[in-house]
Amino acid sequence: MTITPLMPVYPRCGVRPVRGEGCHLVSEDGRRFLDFASGIAVNILGHGHPVLTKAIQDQAATLVHVSNLYGSPQGEALAQRLVDATFADTVFFTNSGAEAVECAIKTARRYHFANGQPQRHKLISFNNAFHGRTLGTISATNQPKMRDGFEPLLPGFEVVPFNELAAAEAAIDDSTAGFLVEPIQGEGGVTPATTEFLTGLRRLADEHGLLLILDEVQCGYARTGTFFAHEQYGIVPDIMAVAKGIGGGFPLGACLATEEAAKGMVPGTHGSTYGGNPLAMAAASAIMDVVVNDAFLDGVKAKGTRLRQALEQLIPNHDGLFHSVRGMGLMLGLKLTDKVEARDFVAHLRDNHGLLTVGAGENVVRILPPLVIEDAHIAEFVEKLSAAARDYGAAA
Ligand SMILES: *Cc1c(COP(=O)(O)O)cnc(C)c1O
Repeated sequence: MTITPLMPVYPRCGVRPVRGEGCHLVSEDGRRFLDFASGIAVNILGHGHPVLTKAIQDQAATLVHVSNLYGSPQGEALAQRLVDATFADTVFFTNSGAEAVECAIKTARRYHFANGQPQRHKLISFNNAFHGRTLGTISATNQPKMRDGFEPLLPGFEVVPFNELAAAEAAIDDSTAGFLVEPIQGEGGVTPATTEFLTGLRRLADEHGLLLILDEVQCGYARTGTFFAHEQYGIVPDIMAVAKGIGGGFPLGACLATEEAAKGMVPGTHGSTYGGNPLAMAAASAIMDVVVNDAFLDGVKAKGTRLRQALEQLIPNHDGLFHSVRGMGLMLGLKLTDKVEARDFVAHLRDNHGLLTVGAGENVVRILPPLVIEDAHIAEFVEKLSAAARDYGAAA
């Protein structure tokens, strides 16, 4: 037997975390890392935050799970808070981001079905998109590494270039249900949609009776300095998928929709055994307590600006390696030049300088710190990044 007990689908690195302390992780062998990966934009309060820890402990001792056969005071309360804080009128809770996107896809198809137009089932999605790893969500991307060998995939998706409004418009036909788009592509390379593109998709959706579905699984939940990234574009979606930061590490996702967009989602059409159980709701409620207020959100914006400025100042000093900085708030990407591969540089940062970051498409190093970082963490990051750039050649 050579296969590992953990199915070997991840090329895991040598860091084996056993403990978290705020913005740092401690590995099995005692090494300490500054965690600017945050479990891929999940641990927005860092590790061991007292508010989240206490909420989970208290709820675990009270009631963990009952199923959706029963009334849910915990789910009703959190859904109401999300409705109050967003464009949405209604919320479905899932256990992951991919499931949130699945629910969004199903909601869009049911909307046109409820309108007597079931032929309008096609979603227009975008080059380099990432929406998850279920069969439905890999059908919405054109990245071969996620699709190869899993065909036949789900019909009803057409992928066109990101940030090219004319291409999106040209793809609209009688079978189109709507658009599925990340306001800031994460995995694809930390690429923000242009304002013209996102507002243009909203306008096209309105003109053609289509639904605009935003995937804010990565860019949402305070990451960019507003509760959701689309707020900074001055538009609202009809449906939105959320996850990652929503539970601060507790597995949870959500599909938010307007009353009109959710008109087809009547009793019996969708479900999840765990989705929105009391323990998940307690974790998510604690997260909302901390992040959904102007002081916290303004802090994220200010820290994002300071981190970005510090990164931009590094570029001329290390012009052989760093190309540019992209992203919004604390969802930043450091694009490298073609002298260095992002994957190699992420490994160098990790193994030789104790910095955790995440690779992304387009040769970008993703910088996704906990949203509770302080200036000292920014200084530690920049100092170590600079040292890593200086000794990259030597260490490689
Ligand atoms: C991570 C991610 C997903 C998938 O979330 P999972 O919890 O891994 O299923 C979907 N969309 C975007 C934009 C993501 O970043």
